[in-house]
Amino acid sequence: MRYPCAAALLATLVLAWSPAATAQREAASLGPARRDAASLGPAPRGDDGRFTNPGGPLAHGGIRVQLPFFLRRVAGAFRSRPGAPEAVPNDGAFLRENARHSTPTVTWIGHATLLVQMDHVSFLTDPTWSDTASPVSFAGPRRYVPPGVALEDLPPIDFVVVSHNHYDHLDVATLRALAQRDPHTRFLVPLGNGDLLRRNGIDDVGELDWGESEEIAGVRVHCLPARHWSKRGLRDDNRALWSSWAVVGPTRSFYHAGDTGWFDGFARIGEVFGGFDLAAVPIGAYEPVAMMHDAHLNPEEAVRAVLALGARRSVGMHFGTFDLTDEPLDEPPRRFRAAAAPEGLAPDSAWVLRIGETRPF
Ligand code: ZN
Ligand code: ZN
Repeated sequence: MRYPCAAALLATLVLAWSPAATAQREAASLGPARRDAASLGPAPRGDDGRFTNPGGPLAHGGIRVQLPFFLRRVAGAFRSRPGAPEAVPNDGAFLRENARHSTPTVTWIGHATLLVQMDHVSFLTDPTWSDTASPVSFAGPRRYVPPGVALEDLPPIDFVVVSHNHYDHLDVATLRALAQRDPHTRFLVPLGNGDLLRRNGIDDVGELDWGESEEIAGVRVHCLPARHWSKRGLRDDNRALWSSWAVVGPTRSFYHAGDTGWFDGFARIGEVFGGFDLAAVPIGAYEPVAMMHDAHLNPEEAVRAVLALGARRSVGMHFGTFDLTDEPLDEPPRRFRAAAAPEGLAPDSAWVLRIGETRPF
């Protein structure tokens, strides 16, 4: 068994989901700087139809690493750990007002969940409001800090992007709540994930392969490569695709790296898009290294990714919110800042937000 993303720990408790229906794809209409975006796909697949990574299979560590890790995770469910991120109150009033004026902003809700407002759209990345990142609500990696903005305080959400089906990124309860809250919200997922949403009553779904894009409310949303994997059930490893996402509007561009290990795709993505105004990069979930390294960035690699992407500003995410892996909860931001400074990335460009904090970009 393989557990590089700890939110998949309890995945063995549930049945495998069936492969998703064929994607309905829209041909990308590409602006001049993004003419080559289609060349970033399609995602590679093996003979058995499962998705693979361009750089070859991921190493997951042997049983001697995995078993003690699993036992530490189970034990961790019964005790708290120090070092959770600071939080600031955010009642959403500015964000709801800003939905009309659209000062470009990013708000950290927690983990990989960001609310971004730019070019008169409001969208969410990997929205997760649940108390545990798990198939069951009573067990699994639990949330240390409440979501930075209450779901009911959000502005109207134009669209949602989901990077992959691990429980800390694809939270069905939250997606269902968002769909019920606003029938105009569109949900974009990588190939093979749409069926799970539709079975949960979410119909306005777009399934994209790497290199494909959709235009929504005047911005273009691109599904792009990442180096990761997927699993929700017993036998569904890599049946559904994983991805990163770029959102490009008339005045701003934003990149969400999803969950990923280091790969040379960052430089290619940076080249095709001519850099980004803001890139959200995962900086946590890197220990034990033998299990985590291929599928997650450590803070130093996250800084390398920011440079390769040509991102003018960056924000660290995917740390401190859920108790997923072995490193201390407050180590990722410290190492991210320490690695960014010598690269000329001052704290005002390589950001670590407080949960609930809104910052213009
Ligand atoms: Zn993952
Ligand atoms: Zn994750």
